[in-house]
Amino acid sequence: MSTRPGGSRLPLALLLLAVPLAVAAWGLGGFSAQRERNNADSQLIDSLNSAGGVYRDALTDVDSTASRLASGPRVEHEFLRGHHRAAVWRMQVDSKHPHGRVTRWHGPIPAAAAVRRIHFLSKGHTIGQVVVFLPLDSQVVKRLSAGARLGGDQRIAFVRRGGLVGGRRTLRLESGSLAGRPGDIRAGGVDYRAVDMDLGSGAKGTRLAVLEPSSHIDSRASLARWRVFGLCFAVILALLAMAYAVSPSIARSRVSRQERERAERVLAHVGDGVFLIDHDGVIRLWNQAAEAITGLRADDVCARTAADAVPGWPAVAGRVPVARRPGEFDDESSAETVPLEIDGREIWLSIAGVTLPDGTVYAFRDVTRERRLEELRAQFVATISHELRTPLASLHGAAMTLLERKHELTDQTRHDLLEMIGAQSKRLADLVEEILLTGQLDSGSLRVVTEPFEAEEIVWSVAAAARLRVGDDTTIDVSLPAVLPKVVGDPARTRQVLTNLMDNAIKYSPHGGRMQLGVEAGDGYARFTVRDEGLGIPLGEQKRIFEKFYRLDPDHRRGIGGSGLGLYISRELVRTMNGRIWVESDAGKGATFAFELPLAERVSVPA
Ligand code: ADP
Repeated sequence: MSTRPGGSRLPLALLLLAVPLAVAAWGLGGFSAQRERNNADSQLIDSLNSAGGVYRDALTDVDSTASRLASGPRVEHEFLRGHHRAAVWRMQVDSKHPHGRVTRWHGPIPAAAAVRRIHFLSKGHTIGQVVVFLPLDSQVVKRLSAGARLGGDQRIAFVRRGGLVGGRRTLRLESGSLAGRPGDIRAGGVDYRAVDMDLGSGAKGTRLAVLEPSSHIDSRASLARWRVFGLCFAVILALLAMAYAVSPSIARSRVSRQERERAERVLAHVGDGVFLIDHDGVIRLWNQAAEAITGLRADDVCARTAADAVPGWPAVAGRVPVARRPGEFDDESSAETVPLEIDGREIWLSIAGVTLPDGTVYAFRDVTRERRLEELRAQFVATISHELRTPLASLHGAAMTLLERKHELTDQTRHDLLEMIGAQSKRLADLVEEILLTGQLDSGSLRVVTEPFEAEEIVWSVAAAARLRVGDDTTIDVSLPAVLPKVVGDPARTRQVLTNLMDNAIKYSPHGGRMQLGVEAGDGYARFTVRDEGLGIPLGEQKRIFEKFYRLDPDHRRGIGGSGLGLYISRELVRTMNGRIWVESDAGKGATFAFELPLAERVSVPA
């Protein structure tokens, strides 16, 4: 089943997006309508200026006509004869005479006219004047309309005393007024947008105006508004359609990003190390567990080839089983246990891979501990088998000899054989005892008593028992302080640790030598020491000899047998009694084992 991701919320989101966009589009439409009105006003002003220019040309014609008439001899004659004080001409423009034609005028000069007067002087006195007037009528309006650059719906008119002199007829100004700025007027039942200008002193009381029907401007503005609004609306629709079209893939990519992040979080928290190697052998993913197990940081290995980033990988890669699909191998045994040496540290990994389209993903667990335990177990079996076989062979041999040849044997030989049986069975019993004790220490079930006891007596008796077992080449000295407070611990276990150390000193001193067994008081503790002049222990091995089953290599211990449990047991017993144990040694020059246990009371130690 496939669903449109986030489908139910999509219409709401689109609506939320569409409403402000529509409001913005409406606002933009209003803005462009206003701009259209402003344009109309500017065009009116431009046209008025152009018409003003044509009017000034007409005035120039009036001026030149007046000058021409004033210089004629007839006028002078008329004035000198005193016939007239003024000679008046009317100037008219029409299509045939764009620059005007003049006719003598004897009536009154009309109010709406551009008038030019030239005073005629004789001997410094005005004897008459030449007057030329241009009636500001529909003919002049025609000429101005023809000469000026007007917009399509604009027209020119003269404004005088509440009336508009236009192309055909004079209209009454019903409302509104003009004062040099664009304004709204109503004339002849029609609303206009108009602008006017003063015509100067030559045409008193008459103004020149350019007007355009408001309805034309309104329809242009409304057209502009709807054009912009429609355009914006189309863009909005296109955007919404696009948003609708791409939203599933956005939602899908969001979902897949969330899934990827979740997978990364999960991968970061799984206990198994996981890494991905692409088809070019480059590591593309390295999770937190992989970092923790190997100590290699993701930043240091990612984007590098596995061969380069993980030391030893090429050597083991071929052994790692890789399934062609998840679950192809159905049991754990499919994983291979391989060693990797990283920074001088050997780690064992149980690892398996699966092929993916992106490369191969490997999952691994750190099995170093299990591996170490397995090694210990194998070591234990080998050691114990060996340690059992030797005394058992001796026991068997002695018993068979006694049984089969009892009549041939001398008393002394019989005695020696019985003594050997006793010693070897003791060795076996000691070995079994050590194994049992190790088990108890491992499980924490061993009980030790903690009580104050006299340490000197234990030291003396351990030394005495040891002396019975050494030859003439060995001396065992005891050193004790003048005063030693009681030690707190388990006396039997302390004796066991001392005996163990003393046994080792004897065992690993094949040429005998001087041995020292002692105890001294420190600040709050008693320090027991066992010193020998035997084989010694190399520095690098001194920590490891306290590990379970750990033994030096046969060369170092000259093939001397043992279980590898004695020092482990000693360390665990001392720890259980709240003490510590260590060794100091120069290989070949003997070893000094020491352990400390708490004192029952503090003593002041003499310097
Ligand atoms: P075992 O003696 O049974 O092998 P231990 O745990 O007592 O086991 O000792 C571990 C190893 O430490 C021995 O195998 C030996 O190599 C080394 N070792 C112990 N004591 C001495 C010593 N006094 N001198 C030299 N090597 C010693």
